[in-house]
Amino acid sequence: MPRKIAPYPVVIMKYVIVTGGVLSGLGKGITASSIGVLMKSVGMKVTSIKIDPYLNSDAGTMSPFEHGEVFVLDDGGEADLDLGNYERFLDVSLTRDHNLTTGKVYSAVIERERRGDYLGKTVQVIPHITDEIQDWIERVSIIPTNGSGDPPDACVIELGGTVGDIESSPFVEALRQFQFRVGRENVCFVHVSLVPVMGPVGEQKTKPTQHTVKELRGLGITPDLIVCRSKDPLHDEVKEKLAAFCHVEPRAVISAHDVSNLYQIPISFERQGVRSMIAECIGVEESDHDEYLEEWREMADRVDGLEEEVKIAMVGKYTGLSDSYLSVIKALQHSAIEVDRKLVIDWIESTDLDSSMLESDEDSYNAAWEKLKLADGILVPGGFGNRGVEGKVEAARYARENNVPYLGICLGLQIATIEFCRNVLNLEGANSEEFVEDPGDLEHPAVVFMPEISKTHMGGTMRLGAKITPFVVDDCKIKRLYGGLDAVSERHRHRYEVNPDLIDRIEEAGLMYVGKDDTGQRCEIMELMDHPYFVGTQYHPEFKSRPGRPSPPFLGLLRAASGLFE
Ligand code: GLN
Repeated sequence: MPRKIAPYPVVIMKYVIVTGGVLSGLGKGITASSIGVLMKSVGMKVTSIKIDPYLNSDAGTMSPFEHGEVFVLDDGGEADLDLGNYERFLDVSLTRDHNLTTGKVYSAVIERERRGDYLGKTVQVIPHITDEIQDWIERVSIIPTNGSGDPPDACVIELGGTVGDIESSPFVEALRQFQFRVGRENVCFVHVSLVPVMGPVGEQKTKPTQHTVKELRGLGITPDLIVCRSKDPLHDEVKEKLAAFCHVEPRAVISAHDVSNLYQIPISFERQGVRSMIAECIGVEESDHDEYLEEWREMADRVDGLEEEVKIAMVGKYTGLSDSYLSVIKALQHSAIEVDRKLVIDWIESTDLDSSMLESDEDSYNAAWEKLKLADGILVPGGFGNRGVEGKVEAARYARENNVPYLGICLGLQIATIEFCRNVLNLEGANSEEFVEDPGDLEHPAVVFMPEISKTHMGGTMRLGAKITPFVVDDCKIKRLYGGLDAVSERHRHRYEVNPDLIDRIEEAGLMYVGKDDTGQRCEIMELMDHPYFVGTQYHPEFKSRPGRPSPPFLGLLRAASGLFE
């Protein structure tokens, strides 16, 4: 069959397709990102696409406590958190189209059917859905993402879920066909599996991997590399056994054992020959760009060497899934590395700080406050809904009154504003319209619903994505942290804002909104004067933090918390 001619300039794109088996949560995203790092290290421009086989159009309406954080992109796309891993590891900026979901594919096909694009035909999963998936990948993989404006040379595609799931099957089929569409010599298949340890002598068991590879091959995809998650390095005989049963060479069975920190993974992969095998598979020369990997290695070793601790109290809804705050944690880590401190995050469930807890559970209340008081800095991350709000207000008050470094992100800025209105301006009961049943009853609305936001549709209707925030005050810490820039571009995701009617009164009392949007009305960056570091941002700076280029508001918090501010 002749290759379809694409309606855009054709570049020879190389693809690494990462699938997973046995169970979810194996770190497929990190595996895929690490492979991307190795490809960058041979001088390629690398981009990535994440496929999520769920029916939601995007992650925007999904709970971060079930699915992990919603990662926000420059264009306002609300995406799976793996896009954050790719942006951070590959230092790229992706678009909403880089996160492909079943919801998006079916919407596109159904829209096309209504338009009459398939007149006379029966629209089916094969070929219409599978073609749409392949067209999508070809179209999106050439979008420039590294800031240079040049199209990438390689695209890492991660298929979410596990192979064999009903919902991922159209994607697996599309990817099977894809190797013929773009040429087998341009594709490398990597399958991520699990090697559990059983029994008294700790035997590494290969059967789950044998089964998942068999299943994948049954669907027409033969993996070129098998990456095995395991606690300890895979034994040689285990590699040989897997090779024999899974139709790969022993050297293509890669051990993804636990390492001291995430940055060591690309290094460990390189040591096992992953880079040369991939280069061989997709026919690129493994020219020497080891400087890049050398820098990476230095960073990884530096993280291992951090000793002196800095304690940050994270006051939020804590449900045991730390992925709900993934980018915030990463941003804290990037800054901790910069200030040479070992980051310790103390998770504090904000409901426990609420004084009304005293009656029902005094022990939790006391424990939470003890933790808060031991922290070097306090962070109130983004959030929605009124659960735990009073505890967060208490935490902001404690930070303000005791000169403890504070960073409030989105909701955290709103919380600090409410606290200030209540306890400095004495506006009793000041609150956000979000947290009360009837906003009309609120005597002092400190935070209000933004007029342009939809009240009927929840998906994709927040104030989303990158917006420019000019500084309106020059002499402030946060502007200095941003290198004295006149304006910053950061990513947003919110429905409420500081009440414009109260801004003057709040500012007169010393809490300044030093960055406002271009209307001059919308508060974006807050800083309390005469405090070591009390900063809030209506946007989410965590999404643009990178290893080696930490986000300035986070860096400020870590510097202040480590006693290193200016
Ligand atoms: N719930 C608040 C709002 O919608 C804050 C959102 C957030 O923290 N991302 O404005």
